[in-house]
Amino acid sequence: MKAAVYHGIEDIRIEEVEKPVCGEREILIKVSYCAICGTDVRIFFHGHKKVNPPAIIGHEITGIIEEIGKKVDYPEIKVGDRVTVVTSIGCGKCKMCLKGYYNLCPDTKAIGYYYQGGYAEYLLIPEISIQQKGIVKLPDNLSLSEGALIEPLSCCINGQSYLNIEEGDTVVIYGGGPIGLMHANLAKSSGADKVIVVDPDYERLEKFGKQFEGLILWDGKKVNVKEEINKITDGYGADVVITACPAKQAQMEGIEILGSKGRISLFGGLPKDNSIIQIDANLIHYKELSVFGAYASNKKDYIKAAELISEGKIEAKKFISEIIPLEKIKEGINMIKNGEVLKVVVEINPD
Ligand SMILES: [Zn+2]
Ligand SMILES: [Zn+2]
Repeated sequence: MKAAVYHGIEDIRIEEVEKPVCGEREILIKVSYCAICGTDVRIFFHGHKKVNPPAIIGHEITGIIEEIGKKVDYPEIKVGDRVTVVTSIGCGKCKMCLKGYYNLCPDTKAIGYYYQGGYAEYLLIPEISIQQKGIVKLPDNLSLSEGALIEPLSCCINGQSYLNIEEGDTVVIYGGGPIGLMHANLAKSSGADKVIVVDPDYERLEKFGKQFEGLILWDGKKVNVKEEINKITDGYGADVVITACPAKQAQMEGIEILGSKGRISLFGGLPKDNSIIQIDANLIHYKELSVFGAYASNKKDYIKAAELISEGKIEAKKFISEIIPLEKIKEGINMIKNGEVLKVVVEINPD
């Protein structure tokens, strides 16, 4: 089969590799689409501790069930189903796994990292993923290309599950990339009143952000966010902040602009060698602030994401800037790196 094989930093090659053989306890998927994640871009340029080259990465996958092993016990899934796959696979035994939080398993082994990913014609679903029921069927009206956005949206849904966004809330999102804009649309769909997206790359923010109705877009280089938030909230401050960027400054300012009972999600991680920030802990104390993290997602978030996209509450088409063939994967990675696009979806076996 044809695959994009990652051989190391800045080295990805289109190669003919052996098509995986479906074992008795495995499921084989014919891959339709795989969207390029910011993490794929980071793996390409910087490597990743769980990706051992040569490897096939890619985890925002849709496809069609091609073969189901004889001993697979998964009656909900049959050959021909249109599906996406849950990225996080837990060990199945630890405290977090027993609660269903496979994303938080200390020994998590993800598809597209430890296991083969979606930049290939076929994808083998390992037994442990099947035990964790890691396959999600696409709603009938959801196209396989749009379905590739379920995974990134599921991560945003997991992040916002902590934030209790409700009607009347003022929500500030730092970062105007695809994840920031997904968060913004998700907050809107939860009834938030004002949803503000801040990014120092205002050109990109305006170009992509203005496609979506009702978002307020601020130039991070020019706007004094704290002052402006105070102005539009009569001095109360923001109800919710989400940092969808790897920036310390956003995390520190985000806590400062929260009003009483405010909630912040440190959604985007910081560079691992530069992740200490300074905060005034008394803000958290006196204002009863809540600080949350978020990392990846679980099946329930995928199901919710698939629903939101199929109902049109998240307009997936507006997020897809380019659909490219597998051969152009490097170009796709560079388009994302250069901020020219929102999402790039690689087409492997079209609908
Ligand atoms: Zn992703
Ligand atoms: Zn575990």
